[in-house]
Amino acid sequence: MNHQYWNEKIEKMPRKELEVWQLERLKDAVGVSLRTPFYKNRLSQAGIKSPGDIKTLEDLKRIPFTTKHDLRDGFPYGFLAVPKEEVIRLHASSGTTGAPTTIYFSRDDISRWTSFVARCIYGTGCTKADVFQNMITYGLFTGGLGFHSGGEEVGMMVIPSGAGNTTRQFRLMRDFGTTVLHATPSFLLHVESKMREEGVSRDSLRLKRAFAGAEPYSEDTRRRIEQLLHIDVYNSYGLSEMNGPGVAFECQEKNGLHIWEDGYIAEIINPETLQPVADGERGELVLTILCREATPILRYRTRDLTGFMPGPCPCGRTHRRLYRITGRSDDMLIINGVNVFPSQIEEAIMAMKEVGNNYLIELEKDGVLDRLTVKTEVTPESFMDDTRPLNALKEKIRRILQASITINPRVELHESGSLPVTEGKAVRVKDLRPKDI
Ligand code: AMP
Ligand code: ZN
Repeated sequence: MNHQYWNEKIEKMPRKELEVWQLERLKDAVGVSLRTPFYKNRLSQAGIKSPGDIKTLEDLKRIPFTTKHDLRDGFPYGFLAVPKEEVIRLHASSGTTGAPTTIYFSRDDISRWTSFVARCIYGTGCTKADVFQNMITYGLFTGGLGFHSGGEEVGMMVIPSGAGNTTRQFRLMRDFGTTVLHATPSFLLHVESKMREEGVSRDSLRLKRAFAGAEPYSEDTRRRIEQLLHIDVYNSYGLSEMNGPGVAFECQEKNGLHIWEDGYIAEIINPETLQPVADGERGELVLTILCREATPILRYRTRDLTGFMPGPCPCGRTHRRLYRITGRSDDMLIINGVNVFPSQIEEAIMAMKEVGNNYLIELEKDGVLDRLTVKTEVTPESFMDDTRPLNALKEKIRRILQASITINPRVELHESGSLPVTEGKAVRVKDLRPKDI
């Protein structure tokens, strides 16, 4: 296979050199971190007072982990390392309400991020001759603008179509000869079903490849999309805390995602013992971003479950590969690509006086999309034979939930005491989506 490299020197850097590079950048990252209120405190408690306290890569382990909880506690400016006037953009984690996780970018941060995304895109064989339709949500979510800038950097013609509205997507594909797509895997499947429904012939389009990410999906799903749309699908992994897309990506071998080790230090730990696991074993991914000046984050517990693939990749890149990410070690749900915590649902409904003491979150597949049903008990006072007030209540709960989690759920009302109760910890989530990962 003929591989192409955006930055061959860095992508094929010998491991020894890569480690020297990482150590230098880690010292810088610690220096930058010490300018933030959060790390000034956290690192000094760990006995790290200056970048000089980091002497080898092993010293990384002296740095305490950072969690999502820390980021929320630090909202809004606890992690900011530059004067506000140096910030040119912010992004936030999807689905977070209340106290969001916000990441600030300086001009150099944006350009470094853009070049990582460009590296990923170019490595799949794209060139400036390609037409790139970015079918993902724009806005605070990093997937939109991240891929948009990366695509432009490669020189492709970028169509900022955003997600949704398949009829319009097909028109754009046809009118402009789209060759490359970016979307969640579930939206790609949805696009394919709609294509059949609307009689859009695959041969009338010029599609060659797609980047699919933002949610876990199986190898079978990848193959299904590839076969149905006659394209190559590449797995794209990223998270807003680490810029967004461009953290790890598949090369044309399509066997594991290269994690860009000139930009990140990756560790895999056992989420229970917090100890590192052996190569090849699965665990939780912990990431340190090496070159970000506005929002440094050290040893971030991503909660994402994966592992290092042993052995080198035939593409010649020296940066290690991660296995396909299979899920998360916490209870965050990913519903059609949007992150939802069960606690958000609880917070929204339990504040309503008509709602009873028990509720259940059910997730199913409706075709290729996820369907969320929230079953709640209602207080005996509110539960009556007349269906009109009950329907109004149902609609009220639906609206409140949609405002909180940005997903339109089905709502079912149940008589008080009729939903199952478990001994010990309550089981709130019934995830009936097939686990084919
Ligand atoms: P956000 O910060 O809103 O962009 O969400 C990031 C999260 O989405 C990650 O921590 C993962 O849990 C999930 N995610 C992103 N890309 C992938 C992928 N390719 N495979 C599995 N999960 C993914
Ligand atoms: Zn490779």
